[in-house]
Amino acid sequence: MIIYKFGGSSVGTPDRIKGIIDLLRENPVRAVVFSAFSGVTDQLISTARRAAAGIPEYVEEVRQLERRHLDAVRELVTVHQQSNASAVVKMTLNELEDILQGVFLIRECSPKTLDFIQSFGERLSNFIISRALTSSNLPCEYLDARTVIRTDATFGSALVQFPETNALIQAHFASHPLLQIVTGFIGSTSSGDTTTLGRGGSDYTASILGAALKAGEVHIWTDVDGVLTADPRKVPNAFTQPEMTYIEALEMSHFGAKVIYPPTIQPLMQANIPIRIRNTFFPTGTGTLITNLASVNPDPIRGISSIGQVGLLRVEGAGMIGVAGVAQRIFGTLARNGISVILISQASSEQSVCFAVAPDVAQKAVDVLEVEFTTERELGRIARITADTDTSIIAIVGENMRNVPGIAGRVFQALGQNGVNVMAIAQGSSEFNISVVLSRADESKALRAIHDAFFAPGSKTIHVFLVGLGRVGAALVDMIQKNRESISDRMMVDVRLVGIANSKQMYFDLNGIDDPDWSKHLAQSGGKMDIQGYLDHIKTLNLPNSVLVDCTAGTQVNAHYAEVLEQSIAIVTPNKTTNAGSMEQWRALREISRKRQVPFFYETNVGAALPIVKTVRDQTESGNSIIRMEGILSGTLSYLFNRFGQDASFSEALKEAFDAGYTEPDPRDDLNGLDAARKILILAREAGWLLELDDVHVTPAIPARFFEAPTVDAFWKMLPEADAELSARRNKAAASGKKLAYIAKVENGNASVGLTEIDANHPAYHLREMDNLLAITSDIYSTRPLVVMGPGAGPAVTASGVLSDILRVAEVRV
Ligand code: ASP
Ligand code: MG
Repeated sequence: MIIYKFGGSSVGTPDRIKGIIDLLRENPVRAVVFSAFSGVTDQLISTARRAAAGIPEYVEEVRQLERRHLDAVRELVTVHQQSNASAVVKMTLNELEDILQGVFLIRECSPKTLDFIQSFGERLSNFIISRALTSSNLPCEYLDARTVIRTDATFGSALVQFPETNALIQAHFASHPLLQIVTGFIGSTSSGDTTTLGRGGSDYTASILGAALKAGEVHIWTDVDGVLTADPRKVPNAFTQPEMTYIEALEMSHFGAKVIYPPTIQPLMQANIPIRIRNTFFPTGTGTLITNLASVNPDPIRGISSIGQVGLLRVEGAGMIGVAGVAQRIFGTLARNGISVILISQASSEQSVCFAVAPDVAQKAVDVLEVEFTTERELGRIARITADTDTSIIAIVGENMRNVPGIAGRVFQALGQNGVNVMAIAQGSSEFNISVVLSRADESKALRAIHDAFFAPGSKTIHVFLVGLGRVGAALVDMIQKNRESISDRMMVDVRLVGIANSKQMYFDLNGIDDPDWSKHLAQSGGKMDIQGYLDHIKTLNLPNSVLVDCTAGTQVNAHYAEVLEQSIAIVTPNKTTNAGSMEQWRALREISRKRQVPFFYETNVGAALPIVKTVRDQTESGNSIIRMEGILSGTLSYLFNRFGQDASFSEALKEAFDAGYTEPDPRDDLNGLDAARKILILAREAGWLLELDDVHVTPAIPARFFEAPTVDAFWKMLPEADAELSARRNKAAASGKKLAYIAKVENGNASVGLTEIDANHPAYHLREMDNLLAITSDIYSTRPLVVMGPGAGPAVTASGVLSDILRVAEVRV
């Protein structure tokens, strides 16, 4: 025997009801419980309130209800039965109107009257549907549940008296073999007063019937696919759990997932009757099967639920330590005032007790506790009682957690890495629910991070916010777009580019900016860029695993690095100005990165994608001290002297490099050696020599007077003068088998960059094109150096290095 229940949204329109009729034709069941048509219960309550407030327009609402129900009759009931059905509906609504008239006249609507008024929703819907079924040749009978469900007189959420109810149901069904169409939600007292079972109570009706009749299964038809692992509005990759236990369903539904009315579970759990949650709009789906022993669950948890807003109260004071009865008084006071407690936590030091309540009663809770503890407060035993209503609760649910170590660890790691502060924690000793209280602003980020950590272990979404769309930035966008899918297939990392910005505009797309024509979106729908606004937006979005990628050249963005890292947002950048900036800032950023465990990666600061920074760091971290580093760290100067060494004059070689776009707009910015100086400084610091830029001894590649030329044009005119000088130097070097190279070097804390003669034994002697090179001499590599060499400049290689840094962020995250 199977019992079905359809919720209000399943019977929202006549079309949907027709779909249900088809479903019932194919699936013979013993009884079907329907809710009121969607929105009708709310409307009845508001109409009653209006009438009680003396607002005469309540009549208009009754007319609306009448029209809606009569329309349904017209759509669903065959013509020759319509007038009879319409007459019943009209009579019923007349009765409703009479009662409302009474409410209007005495300006009062007691809970008892309100229950009676609400009963019209289910009575009308079930009556009409039963007639619609008969019209479709599905024989059935309408059953007003008030004749079989006996309750006490707690109007609004009446308690069912099971022995009597069960007997009434069994007797009724024994003498009524036809399909029963049963009003959900309502019952009656022994003296015949109408009661309701609590909002959402139609589920409960089905459960009561199922338990009384020892049904084989009870199916709750709703508008979602079953019980999901999390709220899909907050966690986009939430999915339906095919099976779960009664306890898990209870925990999940208790906490936000409004799929099933919690009291529903108890009677069926006791009778061990399986519950299926199914989607009316997708009837072929499997839904969720709820039983005593849900089958193997590969994941240690079953789902994550949350309450978006709660009030967190704290009662604090040293005078509570070791004093018996404080907790009893706190919770006794709350109970007397009808305040229900959602979560409780007290540390063993007994310095404070904290607990959560519904946000709208938080202040009342503070008030009543302040009165209760007046004396203790005057004596200073209780220092303060505070409430914070900007908090949420997230609960991790699953019976499999019992006795499995490491669950809490994973939860808190996911939260910690994303900078989510935990205000209170509660886990019952039954171990199927770990609840954490956190700031409301972090709720959805926390849900996603925990969801990923458990349901997609190993797979992560990295949210990339790029600033700087010059050649490197643009190449990076291109690379992310082209490789997003293959990276996700290979590494289970979704690199989602959610924000881009240049100096003028910024643009966001939470699904990822996938259109190769991204610059169009930026120009057409981008907002005006200002870096603070961009960063604020990143903060507001508050996405897990966020990374700021700074592909700008200047220092406007890095002034904000500390603030960004403090938010647990990782930074990846090819921009050298930070790491070559003041030691003070350098130290501060590392400190934050270490303290917050948030990645700050900059492999592309030196040698583009070549693993130079990493190699130096690996050497240093493994305790292998570096004695000397030497190499060619400027791609432009490498190219220049490689060409000049062949057949071109110095000025020709420079012009060639300029035309090919290898130099700065003013090539003197390369020739002055500053770029190479910054890079050797960065490496020196990485190796433990904490120098400032001023400490690096810089000899420009050409004599000082060339830098005095007032304009770039003047410089180009003057440049041939350098040819003679540089040719002479080159020839002199060549005479002893050497060549000129712009070498950066650090040894014993002395760093320098300048033009140097190197012989064929020097590792840099055979470099070509834009190649970079670094030779590291250390304790271990003492006789022959460790050499990293290869193309070390250009937008494409730099972008690929930035992308690997982004992927490294994914690696270090849970
Ligand atoms: N109609 C009632 C309500 O809206 C009962 C139900 O839908 O389950 O609360
Ligand atoms: Mg409902």
